[in-house]
Amino acid sequence: MYYLGIDIGSTASKCVVVDDSGEIVGKGLYSSGAGTSGPRTAIDAALSDAGVAMDDVARSCATGYGRNLLDWADMTLSELSCHAKGAGRLFPTAKTVIDIGGQDAKVLRIGEGGRLENFAMNDKCAAGTGRFLDVMAGVFQCKVSDLQDYDAKSTKVASISSTCTVFAESEVISKLASGEQIADIVAGIHESVAERTAGLAKRVGVAGDVAMTGGVALNAGLRDRLSRKIGHPILVSRLAQLNGALGAALAARDACLSGKGAEDVAEPRREGPASCEGCAGNGR
Ligand code: ADP
Repeated sequence: MYYLGIDIGSTASKCVVVDDSGEIVGKGLYSSGAGTSGPRTAIDAALSDAGVAMDDVARSCATGYGRNLLDWADMTLSELSCHAKGAGRLFPTAKTVIDIGGQDAKVLRIGEGGRLENFAMNDKCAAGTGRFLDVMAGVFQCKVSDLQDYDAKSTKVASISSTCTVFAESEVISKLASGEQIADIVAGIHESVAERTAGLAKRVGVAGDVAMTGGVALNAGLRDRLSRKIGHPILVSRLAQLNGALGAALAARDACLSGKGAEDVAEPRREGPASCEGCAGNGR
């Protein structure tokens, strides 16, 4: 049989299908998240990639910001548990996982088999998240995937002093107007996100091998700056953005094979930090 994990994020829908042995047999990613047809598209792509039908799926697990929208999923789990579990598979030696997605950033400490031991999270403010980088790419009228190429061409760091996305966007626009090079501004933007993430990592404590997951892990410029700030090399995988969906698929498999029902794996709700006053930077 097969097990389906679906991660309905704020900006992208990711789906992974695993088999009885936990091997990945299908993947789907669609750059459209909660509240759109993105989840269905990602699921169809993953099933087709695996060459299986929905009837072949023994258990499904939804995770991510929009997980409760998938009312037919057999079970739901938090992104924290799923990212920890997925990272346990993708990076067997990692003890610290830094995940930056479209609207939150988190640092996880994981134990044996990807068990979540501790975490710190920024989930109420767009600063330091993919959303921050998406907004900045919008100012430069480039794709977010192009930011790393700009960073590679930078000759200095044009520092961004505002941490709030809304103020930082204005700061970037005025730096452009005063003739600063885009590459140097991008370096400043990456430094700012790296600084914020390193602060989160400090709260958890960086231990053992460090891995990075989430869509922002695909940005080599940011990764390198973060690596220098925390003083550790950072492991990455081309499947980094699918990590949460992989964890969900593995959780569905484990629960099914051990005979656990959805109520046996239900989790208590974890509260995030309060948002900064009046900020609507991430649209929440
Ligand atoms: P979510 O689960 O909240 O939708 P993801 O983990 O899918 O978040 O990450 C989405 C973010 O990843 C986007 O906001 C974008 O900033 C970043 N991203 C996606 N693809 C790339 C890429 N190829 N290069 C750099 N950044 C990327």
